[in-house]
Amino acid sequence: MQNQITTVGPNRGGSTSDYRDPVNLNGAWAWPTNRGYVITSYRGWRWGRMHQGVDISGAGNFGSAIYASAGGTVTYVNNTCPSQGRGYGDSCGGAMGNEVVINHGNGYVTRYGHLHQTVLVRVGQTVSRGEQIGYMGNSGSSTGAHLHFEVLYNGSNINPLSIYQ
Ligand SMILES: [Zn+2]
Repeated sequence: MQNQITTVGPNRGGSTSDYRDPVNLNGAWAWPTNRGYVITSYRGWRWGRMHQGVDISGAGNFGSAIYASAGGTVTYVNNTCPSQGRGYGDSCGGAMGNEVVINHGNGYVTRYGHLHQTVLVRVGQTVSRGEQIGYMGNSGSSTGAHLHFEVLYNGSNINPLSIYQ
């Protein structure tokens, strides 16, 4: 299934209640959720630890589609966790719950965490930009349905929102 909407998130930092309707663009990167999302947590220090990605909720919440942000090869899948975890502190999947990792082959790697247990891709599979890879879940250490979205460039964790600027 292709994501018909190319969306980008806010370019600024903000509070947990920050909301901005996505902007349609023909950028290189597809937004990983449906539109109508809310960014509930930014990359940065949180509770004394580095939060390595952005948390994206709304967008239809639990069970809504999650899309590959760009074409690449699936390098990791975990689908061993209940779609609804035990909440904060649930260590399933290293706290990430169900997860997909995609290597885009140009130095970029993206990670999608807390997914629903029904993951639509397998390791070694080639995916295209905007292809659905799974569903938003609440697995692992998660207190509500959301996507944890991480981006690495040449092995270093970067701000996911920077690829949409
Ligand atoms: Zn997160």
